[in-house]
Amino acid sequence: MANLPNYLYIVASIFFIYGLKMLGKAHSARKGNMISAIGMLIAVVATLIMAELDIKWILVGAIIGSAIGAAAARLVKMTSMPEMVGLFNGFGGLASLLVGWAEYHRIATGGPSSLFTLVAIGATVLIGGITFSGSMIAYAKLAEKISGKPVLFKGQQLVNGALLLAAVAACVVLCLNPTSMYAAFIGMVVVSMVLGVLVTIPIGGADMPVVIALLNSYSGLAACAAGFVIMNNVLIVAGSLVGASGIILTSIMCRAMNRSLANVMFAGVGATAAGGKTFTGEAKTVSATDAYLMLEAASSVVFVPGYGMAVAQAQHVVKELGDLLEENGCEVSYCVHPVAGRMPGHMNVLLAEADVPYEQLVEPGDVNPTITNVDVAVVIGANDVVNPSAREEGTALYGMPIIDVDNARVCIVLKRSLKAGFAGVENPLFFAPNTRMLLGDAKASITSVVGEFKG
Ligand code: NDP
Repeated sequence: MANLPNYLYIVASIFFIYGLKMLGKAHSARKGNMISAIGMLIAVVATLIMAELDIKWILVGAIIGSAIGAAAARLVKMTSMPEMVGLFNGFGGLASLLVGWAEYHRIATGGPSSLFTLVAIGATVLIGGITFSGSMIAYAKLAEKISGKPVLFKGQQLVNGALLLAAVAACVVLCLNPTSMYAAFIGMVVVSMVLGVLVTIPIGGADMPVVIALLNSYSGLAACAAGFVIMNNVLIVAGSLVGASGIILTSIMCRAMNRSLANVMFAGVGATAAGGKTFTGEAKTVSATDAYLMLEAASSVVFVPGYGMAVAQAQHVVKELGDLLEENGCEVSYCVHPVAGRMPGHMNVLLAEADVPYEQLVEPGDVNPTITNVDVAVVIGANDVVNPSAREEGTALYGMPIIDVDNARVCIVLKRSLKAGFAGVENPLFFAPNTRMLLGDAKASITSVVGEFKG
């Protein structure tokens, strides 16, 4: 019976690993989420059994937290999910920092300590602080509360290096003198928060997916370090799983941008100007009826969703149009760029919500080599991920592999204006000879095309 919590921890860890595996595929992701949540419930119950605490305050916290979580899940708009994910990462880092702080307070007020615990506290505070303040900056950029442009200043790397050294020095001071150095501890908290801001502000524009994935990884590493502080096995396991999967996601995002992590972190691409030419040619606009006629005659159509599909909440009508095209004998696929939208997997979530069959999802690498044989590429609120300027040196998108919709026989672009996308780089696709602009809200435009099909 004494070992019951540890057995429950093993069960919880199996649920986490199994849930994480299911999250890797769109069709099983919902179940994976549920299984991971059940694992977390088991871990919490096991911890309460083990801790033999007066759980009054814990229950109060759990009820308030659950109420906020449930309300946020219902009230926050789907388009604001990326910011919310940013906030979640930040609060994960803050929670770990507070665990480190509580444990240090116990030591500073005469509780037993060891060098191992003090080093673990240092790591928890440093990573937790960076995650918290870095995530707040990412949140503010995504919610457009501050400019999304990279902010660079002279000697930035030196300042960051000096701050990191100061945090490590404070940790050393604490290890040497754990009880009488509260000021060093507070200094470490402040320095880690400032460092979080300074390492996040130079990253902006199209590089944001990388920093979001990295902060997600940091929140896991902070939890893992907090697990070592209080020697809690399931926190160590869960933290390392989040940390490792975040690193894998970061590497996927870097690959999607064709950039190294160092380049994303330190180059400040797009700090001064987004680059790219200004295009003044005439874009050819079409009506929903024209678009219908082109689609009705097509034998292969690739849909390319982007952030605008999320804004318009057009995923259900897109699926309806896809079904009508299939009934018409057309081969239909959905090509998702890894950085499309505002959070990793954003488009996959929306398409899964609309029940788009998993088999119809294709990757840019599968579509691009044969895209010249595609009759119509339909771009639904995507911009940066189809911007041919990414092939031109000197633009903020340079080097990012795009979906080559400009090489399809016809490309229909659905958006409201000719404005640039998230990275601020003008898009020559809108002026290409084979492009037709169907201007307006994507949901309204596709609903009209569907109406033409049905009519
Ligand atoms: P973009 O943000 O480049 O472009 C979206 C386009 O959607 C806009 O140009 C806008 O044009 C259009 N749009 C907005 N609302 C509507 C609507 N109601 N109906 C039709 N169109 C609409 O999107 P992409 O998905 O192509 O690229 C994503 C960008 O975001 C990349 O630069 C990526 O790096 C970045 N990013 C990605 C993250 C991720 O994790 N995936 C995280 C953070 C940033 P208009 O106003 O003319 O309608």
